[in-house]
Amino acid sequence: MSVTSVFPQLERLLPRISKPIQYVGGELGAVVKDWDAATVRWVLSYPDAYEVGLPNQGVQILYEVLNEQPDVLAERTYAVWPDLEALMRAEGVPQFTVDAHRPVHAFDLFGVSFATELGYTNLLTMLDLAGIPFDSRERDERHPIVVAGGHAAFNPEPIADFIDAAVLGDGEEAVLEITGIVREWKAEGSPGGRDELLLRLARTESVYVPRFYDVDYLPDGRIQRVVPNRADVPFRVHKRTTMDLDAWPYPKRPLVPLAETVHERYAVEIFRGCTRGCRFCQAGMITRPVRERSITTVGQMVQEGLEFSGFHEVGLLSLSSADHSEIGDMCSGLAQQYEGTNVSLSLPSTRVDAFNVTLAQELSRNGRRTGLTFAPEGGSERIRQVINKMVTEEDLIRTVVTAYSNGWRQVKLYFMCGLPTETDDDVLQIAKLAHEVIRAGRTATGSRDIRCTVSIGGFVPKPHTPFQWAAMAEPEVIDRRLKLLKDAINADRSLGKAIGYRYHDGEPSLVEGLLSRGDRRVGAVIRRVWEEGGRFDGWSEHFSFRRWVDAAAAELPAFGVDLAWFTTRDRDQNEVLPWDHLDSGLDKDWLWQDWQDALTGYEQDDCRWTPCFDCGVCPSQDTEIQIGPTGKKLLPLTPVGTGLRVPHA
Ligand code: SF4
Repeated sequence: MSVTSVFPQLERLLPRISKPIQYVGGELGAVVKDWDAATVRWVLSYPDAYEVGLPNQGVQILYEVLNEQPDVLAERTYAVWPDLEALMRAEGVPQFTVDAHRPVHAFDLFGVSFATELGYTNLLTMLDLAGIPFDSRERDERHPIVVAGGHAAFNPEPIADFIDAAVLGDGEEAVLEITGIVREWKAEGSPGGRDELLLRLARTESVYVPRFYDVDYLPDGRIQRVVPNRADVPFRVHKRTTMDLDAWPYPKRPLVPLAETVHERYAVEIFRGCTRGCRFCQAGMITRPVRERSITTVGQMVQEGLEFSGFHEVGLLSLSSADHSEIGDMCSGLAQQYEGTNVSLSLPSTRVDAFNVTLAQELSRNGRRTGLTFAPEGGSERIRQVINKMVTEEDLIRTVVTAYSNGWRQVKLYFMCGLPTETDDDVLQIAKLAHEVIRAGRTATGSRDIRCTVSIGGFVPKPHTPFQWAAMAEPEVIDRRLKLLKDAINADRSLGKAIGYRYHDGEPSLVEGLLSRGDRRVGAVIRRVWEEGGRFDGWSEHFSFRRWVDAAAAELPAFGVDLAWFTTRDRDQNEVLPWDHLDSGLDKDWLWQDWQDALTGYEQDDCRWTPCFDCGVCPSQDTEIQIGPTGKKLLPLTPVGTGLRVPHA
């Protein structure tokens, strides 16, 4: 049955809201297909505002992969701001896609990608506006299958009631497999209804269907076990890994936003996975093993992506881009190719070494210089050993001074506060480091015109990392340390005035901690926060710590637990964790040993360059790390100035 656009109703509301352009669609790269000609229809979402959601790589890749299938249709939806939400409720306008303004409830599948757990309340808004019941058990054949993905899907238990399924890991192949199952089930006349479809998905062993698993609790509130409640689903669900990135060179036709967004650039992922072993980093752990995209594919993607989009900026992305085995050739090749054009090239520069500065310099050949950010993460050598961030004070000073000496006037240093075993002194060492950076920079350059910004984020222990057992620090402790640090930075006025200081207070991190390591009982808290008006929790102007504390106090005591139980409590080795039945490939015993090593400050090398240390990922995926050098060259080597259609300044 055909589905009509809600645009006529929406259009009447647009003059009454802020930034209406974000809801109209029609971007370069957007696809609108014939509804009736499609056999499987997806709506894809990143549960945040358009300006954050549109550039999301995961959604863009899946949007393209799905729309390339002749009989598949994929459209996008984003969280609407509260001003439009209120009007949509008043006028009866449902959650819609921006592509053809079709109502979300009409699609077969509703995929939601979570980079952070703070998007959970926005999921509820979207479901509610779409007319999809919150409780997955109340849905029937008229409702889409709600599928969660992204990093937060590695512990989807807090939203287990609200989703029908979760996919762990890479989505490129998984969405096509899910599409195939839905296509076949529909072609057979939808036998067994929604339950049968979910069962077919669960049988793949890589799609988690929470309703097919029961959670039993011990009298003290800990989990006793999570077990399938039917015979034909697996005990453990495994993550998906796309091994050959060259076979999936997406995005090819990147979306070019109409409204302002957080990133306006062509982003190409140069490798996936990271084995540096930073113990706080969930992304590094769950995306192993390392898989590099070849230099030739990167070059081709950049060329075609720029030609299609007209973007002037290219981001060479990954978790630690300077670690690509051919990054030197890649940067010099691209810099040469785009020299004389107004295309700027950048790579996230978090690795603390002089090589990174050299790369940044290479990329800025055409005179356009992007900022340099280094991430020592911990203020003292001791805490950096705990988190396995192998950077010495000398490394950091030398790197930053190299940057100043090469013309950078401003660098950003990123740290975390609230790390396991952290003391006041570990945090105060950040001030000492920053002072030293400015002092050494002034000496090396002979100029007082240099600055650094110290940026501090709150540590959140994440599932599938060695810190998954760690207690969080109380927000009051974090806030006190941040205040001490500010005073210490400013204690020397001459140095302090060259140092910027940005930080987040400890409260949002505690809520993120609750949602990251929560179990199904936390779902009631999310729902209450939403009912009390919780929206856009990732935005400081919308986030209310009080609302979360009150909701936790209202909902959790019935289960014999509370907010502190989920956040500031140490777990022991034998505790069943809410995500133990979800297999990221990492061996739990290895993670525990790495946690013990953290407590003694024992450092773990990067297995890219040293022997395997048995984290478990490669054997569990029946694969191995893929790195170069391949000896290939960036092709074509023709500088763009000789004829390629790239916009010039
Ligand atoms: S299994 Fe070995 S080689 Fe593979 S990611 Fe783990 S430590 Fe590295």
